[in-house]
Amino acid sequence: MSSYSDYQAPNANGFFGEHGGVYVAETLIPALQELAQAYQQAKNDPEFWAEFRHDLKHYVGRPSPVYHAKRLSKYLGGAQIWLKREDLNHTGAHKINNTIGQALLAKRMGKKRVIAETGAGQHGVASATVAARFGMQCHVYMGADDIQRQAPNVFRMKLLGANVVSVDSGSRTLKDAMNEAMREWVARVDDTFYIIGTAAGPAPYPEMVRDFQCVIGNEAKEQMIEAIGRQPDVAVACVGGGSNAIGLFYPYIQEDNVRLIGVEAGGLGVNTPDHAAPITSKAPIGVLHGFRSYLMQDENGQILGTHSVSAGLDYPGIGPEHSHLHDIGRVEYHATNDNQALLAFDLLCQLEGIIPALESSHALAWAIENAPHMNQDQVILVNLSGRGDKDINTVAKLKNIEL
Ligand SMILES: *Cc1c(COP(=O)(O)O)cnc(C)c1O
Repeated sequence: MSSYSDYQAPNANGFFGEHGGVYVAETLIPALQELAQAYQQAKNDPEFWAEFRHDLKHYVGRPSPVYHAKRLSKYLGGAQIWLKREDLNHTGAHKINNTIGQALLAKRMGKKRVIAETGAGQHGVASATVAARFGMQCHVYMGADDIQRQAPNVFRMKLLGANVVSVDSGSRTLKDAMNEAMREWVARVDDTFYIIGTAAGPAPYPEMVRDFQCVIGNEAKEQMIEAIGRQPDVAVACVGGGSNAIGLFYPYIQEDNVRLIGVEAGGLGVNTPDHAAPITSKAPIGVLHGFRSYLMQDENGQILGTHSVSAGLDYPGIGPEHSHLHDIGRVEYHATNDNQALLAFDLLCQLEGIIPALESSHALAWAIENAPHMNQDQVILVNLSGRGDKDINTVAKLKNIEL
């Protein structure tokens, strides 16, 4: 019997061990209760999942393949590296799996309008995409500074018919955009659905996002059997809020022989102030954006600034289920730095003809570091969460190349 065969989370109050829960203003409680109830009903309705699977197949292009990166594996001279190709999804990353699920739920709840917040713009684009697909109005909240930095994604959202709302308060970035989206949700809860982009936020979001992203791990389990007759020795994914990672890990939790590795953004190093690695840097527990989890903060509880070369990992917290999986020892969390991710990015481009997202390059960097110390008959499955087209300006700048 698996030592995690009785794994079950969250509990009825939305807690994963001591993480998660609902830490929001009184005014938001009814909205979250309505959502939790609607999701529980949808979760037990086979028709809901049939529609979800239909859209994943015909609109997103699933199943995404698993691919044996033979030249990269040979170059490293150790374990065989396989990639779960979420980069091949419509809109270029795993985020669409979740936005399709939440948009279907919004439709079911009779909401005509969706809102979302976005930092780098990837979740904003995925939300604008499904809003267009389902004929819903879409407002995306974005920090004024991020709007400047992420102009191509802002334009994509506008092309898709979304209204991009500039948030001028606070640090004018993701944190402030989230606060503003929550405020807007309270004000218009009757007709508005709030699409959260990662496995975080108040319950029921972490569970709901996990359930939608589990398509990644469920597919991988079938595909690896088909491809090599067994499961990989290691499954690895990058962790920002944690949605692509939990989507891969959750179906593997009870498979004791599969090591699970979550890779945080090490930035300039976890021993410097410039990283986004709450678990690896042993951050204390705190509350942000409606949930309790490990959170980068100073001794007065002020949220610390973060840094990562990849915008999608640049977040001071981590989804509550990851903190719990760390506490119970089922998943190991490590960090890879900006430079390691950039090296991994280059290697995958040059040896496999695949331009990976800088986020995914962090997971790949762990595999590149560890594969040489493993046997050639061992297998590492890396979740390639997205494609890197969005990152070419960042990479060019770091290489001092003018585009
Ligand atoms: C947003 C993003 C991430 C980080 O988000 P998670 O919720 O941790 O998965 C990782 N990879 C890509 C390509 C992204 O766009």
